[in-house]
Amino acid sequence: MSNPFSYSEYSQIIHCIKKQHNIIDYSEVNVDTKRFAVIRHDVEFSVERAYNLAKLENTLQINTSYMFQIRNNAYNLFSNENIRMVREINGMGHKIGLHVHLGMLDSLAEINQYIVHDSKVMESFLQIPIDRFSFHRPPKELLKMNVKLEGLINSYEDRFFEFREEEDGFESLQIKYISDSRHTWNYGYPDEKTIKADSKIQFLFHPYSWTEYGYENSLNFQSLKDEKVTIFTNTVKTECNHFSEPSQ
Ligand SMILES: [Zn+2]
Repeated sequence: MSNPFSYSEYSQIIHCIKKQHNIIDYSEVNVDTKRFAVIRHDVEFSVERAYNLAKLENTLQINTSYMFQIRNNAYNLFSNENIRMVREINGMGHKIGLHVHLGMLDSLAEINQYIVHDSKVMESFLQIPIDRFSFHRPPKELLKMNVKLEGLINSYEDRFFEFREEEDGFESLQIKYISDSRHTWNYGYPDEKTIKADSKIQFLFHPYSWTEYGYENSLNFQSLKDEKVTIFTNTVKTECNHFSEPSQ
């Protein structure tokens, strides 16, 4: 048995999905598609972890969608280093999209312009086509809106996602949603039985949750913090020569 959220567990999950489904791109799904598995990654805290997961997926011979934020406070997507990694992820064959942080949105009525604006900014910095987006912590009203935009795929569109009120339960959904949100499997663990049971599935895996070794929630955050401290320290060291740490 491999550690939870280790690359070995991730590889097992992907093998399991591949056994039952063709993993296809969001752009290949239409209303008549009878059977599909699509995979997306919402990148919350660490471009480095997204980059490493993309490399793992490359060895597993799959292509997926990586959705990045441009308004979060944990990483700057437009740093030289991050642009280089995102371009490399794209070069492996993965698609790049916008993970829409709603922080600066005044009203849902302006959501279309907000998404178009942010995806254009992203495209201009990265010089990569941005043709898709996913919402970060979407309120119910937003999911119900089923936003459709010219040239931009919404991963919560009704082709890929079935909105259901919680009180109505999540049984008998036509499109299964499997997600590792909050480092847990609230919609069911993606084992063979679960994957086999549904003909249409959207998977959401958060790269920050997955590491080579694999950690439970609090240790995962600890290891993420340690990585970030190392990156910050190296950045400061590179930028200036008066960097110093207190002697122990
Ligand atoms: Zn998110």
